Amino acid sequence: MEARPPRRFAETERRRLFVALELPEHVRDSLCAWRSEVMADDLRPVAPEGLHVTLCFLGGRPADQVPAIAAACETALEACSISELGLQAGLWLPRRHPRVLAVRLADPSATLGRAQGALSDALDRGGWYTPEKRPFLPHVTVARIPARARVRAMELPELPPLVFRAPAVTLYRSRLQRTGAVYEPLASVPVGE
Ligand code: ATP
Ligand code: MG
Repeated sequence: MEARPPRRFAETERRRLFVALELPEHVRDSLCAWRSEVMADDLRPVAPEGLHVTLCFLGGRPADQVPAIAAACETALEACSISELGLQAGLWLPRRHPRVLAVRLADPSATLGRAQGALSDALDRGGWYTPEKRPFLPHVTVARIPARARVRAMELPELPPLVFRAPAVTLYRSRLQRTGAVYEPLASVPVGE
């Protein structure tokens, strides 16, 4: 029988990574208040501190790529300042057989869209990310629907007319646990000034 090659950390350890826009606490509070008005059984709320806008989901990457990925995010966002955003509307995704309850953001200056495009290009160039074919839909997932449950896509309440600036874009590690994913910030780039 052949001996197994020695286990090398850099080649075997993977990190589930994504890059997301952070939201100010008062916005997360408003999203939680809005969510509590949606009376659907089987909704699994996202923890208030876990509410974010995913910009690029990288999936499992070798652990030793994390520093280069963090540096690429910083460079890509150097020239990006993200202007005022708003809470546009609640939405079920996908609409017919919803798996998540989300809130779409308004990006009137298109600066969030541009920042997402810059990140997507930079991470693609580095070979760490395959850009999405569909256009970027800026949204916050506020609740998930468990695999076996079915939720009717009922009409959703209006959102408060909030206008806000987001403080930072963060590279996160996601740890999938039975009680829900836990997001660990690895590196942040300020985008609010
Ligand atoms: P769980 O998968 O346990 O329900 P989660 O979706 O919050 O929890 P992850 O799957 O690690 O945790 O996802 C991290 C973030 O990336 C979330 O905002 C999620 O919506 C987003 N995401 C996950 N998979 C994809 C994907 N294939 N494409 C785009 N975004 C994704
Ligand atoms: Mg997921």
